[in-house]
Amino acid sequence: MAEVIDGKSVAEDVVSKVKALTSELVAKGAMKPGLAVVIVGEDPASQVYVASKSRTAKECGFHSLQHTLPADTTEEQLLKIIGDLNADPAINGILVQLPLPGHIDAGKVIQTIAPEKDVDGFHFINVGKLGTGELETAFVPCTPAGSMLLIERVRGKDLSGLNAVVVGRSNIVGKPMANLLLAANCTVTIAHSRTKDLPALARTADILVAAVGRPEMVKGDWVKPGATVIDVGINRIPAPEKGEGKSRLVGDVAYAEAAKAAGAITPVPGGVGPMTIAMLMANTVVSAYLAAGLKRPSF
Ligand code: NAP
Repeated sequence: MAEVIDGKSVAEDVVSKVKALTSELVAKGAMKPGLAVVIVGEDPASQVYVASKSRTAKECGFHSLQHTLPADTTEEQLLKIIGDLNADPAINGILVQLPLPGHIDAGKVIQTIAPEKDVDGFHFINVGKLGTGELETAFVPCTPAGSMLLIERVRGKDLSGLNAVVVGRSNIVGKPMANLLLAANCTVTIAHSRTKDLPALARTADILVAAVGRPEMVKGDWVKPGATVIDVGINRIPAPEKGEGKSRLVGDVAYAEAAKAAGAITPVPGGVGPMTIAMLMANTVVSAYLAAGLKRPSF
């Protein structure tokens, strides 16, 4: 059976390191890292994510600011708030929770965030830095950055000679994941909904990352024996066995069968999920170190 990659424990290690770096920063006389989270509207899932981000920021010793704006906030009002946060020296990281209401252009809002405070890594400057291998100064999107840390725990930092297949080509997960694997010297293939014979392609992967959003799509016989399998998917499916109207979370990988072939695999929940918030904290403390003119800490 595969080694189960414990994302919860790795995420706790990251948060502990962020706390220590925060204390060191303050001891040097610098301001504590500041994270501003902006949410527009009342989407219940977004409210839960934002509360959790703000709570972890406080736990890390950050200055934590939350703007909770009504659903009818105009784009102009939101852009003004972002502009103020860009200019505020107490803020090192700005996160705008997506999705935004339809009348607001999310792309425009993201591109208004100062690149050096773009701890989500979605600004074109950060996307371009990652794409050109400028990892020393880039902010990398949190979910692929966290997935990469989990891969490094199993395989080390240099992945030379390994084949990686990333299933999914979103800007948030698939593409940045592929760029990180490329920067670590993998031979990378990106698969998507138009890919032919995905099972055969997946079987070539020493590292297989699933970021699709389709419950348990990746089957056990898609997995090369000994492969490292990273399941980014979070899907809620009905679970009548738990009672009427109940549901449970599954990934994009059929875990039980894939675990029989894989060398190491992330569970859902408890794999990639906890890494996302931890990496947001990591990006924010990195931003604070850079703003203070100090060497970039690594994770
Ligand atoms: P997305 O934007 O919907 O992208 C899904 C990708 O999967 C697309 O590139 C799509 O291909 C591809 N795809 C869809 N059906 C496919 C199929 N049958 N065969 C091969 N490829 C297929 O999703 P996302 O934002 O990247 O998220 C992916 C999953 O990760 C979701 O379950 C999401 O909930 C989860 N997620 C988790 C975290 C976390 O914190 N753990 C964070 C973000 C996302 P096309 O481009 O051709 O349409």
